[in-house]
Amino acid sequence: MEAAAAEPGNLAGVRHIILVLSGKGGVGKSTISTELALALRHAGKKVGILDVDLCGPSIPRMLRAQGRAVHQCDSGWVPVFVDQEQSISLMSVGFLLESPDEAVVWRGPKKNALIKQFVSDVAWGQLDYLVVDTPPGTSDEHMATVEALRPYSPLGALVVTTPQVVSVGDVRRELTFCRKTGLQVVGVVENMSGFVCPHCAECTNVFSRGGGEELARLAGVPFLGSVPLDPELTRSLEEGRDFIRDFPNSPAFPALSSIAQKV
Ligand code: ADP
Repeated sequence: MEAAAAEPGNLAGVRHIILVLSGKGGVGKSTISTELALALRHAGKKVGILDVDLCGPSIPRMLRAQGRAVHQCDSGWVPVFVDQEQSISLMSVGFLLESPDEAVVWRGPKKNALIKQFVSDVAWGQLDYLVVDTPPGTSDEHMATVEALRPYSPLGALVVTTPQVVSVGDVRRELTFCRKTGLQVVGVVENMSGFVCPHCAECTNVFSRGGGEELARLAGVPFLGSVPLDPELTRSLEEGRDFIRDFPNSPAFPALSSIAQKV
């Protein structure tokens, strides 16, 4: 796992960095990170994804990049390009493990050291956006990520919640984390917000609705949109497909495209 020595400042060519945060796991943080990157790419941007969810790296699977190798060049690790046009690059601990089932059982300092390496030793090149998928909650890894990224602004946080009150409560803690660490909040996204019936197009609010928007209003931060539960989105993630390219008529598409225009 030793990377070649690199000049500091491998993120110097990145125009915007967006940290994707959530109060707990399973709310769709990696999904939103992946689809935001795809939507930005389809809007003509050059995008990188840094997966610092070290214990649950799911982005390589979502982008069908599992098993790809990370190479080295003079300025450090070369991220994996997930598309032929080389407009999305990805770095994840998943590429450094022997197998997708291997678990990262590391103590904090080792995790923090790898996060620093991901920032300083990866040849990111020129990017319009770097989307950073973080672990759930607010942990040492979040502090290490914010500290490593802070010199490279503009740095902002996008907070993902589901509509339920309990999830919204967890997200309040994320917003406190942002305030305490001086992270600008780009906005809140409410995910799994209702289910649109594929037969009659009626929307059922499975987990209630509006919690994310209300939270954003109370916290005085932008609300970026509500992404419905969408079986086609689940399927495209399981098959590692490009949802934004392949499912433009599905219920989650308008919200995901519109979020990418607001960040
Ligand atoms: P997290 O990163 O917060 O742990 P994930 O992004 O891995 O959560 O999402 C958990 C599961 O929920 C995944 O299987 C994903 O495909 C699914 N999922 C997330 N958001 C949606 C959505 N809006 N519609 C359908 N499935 C979704």
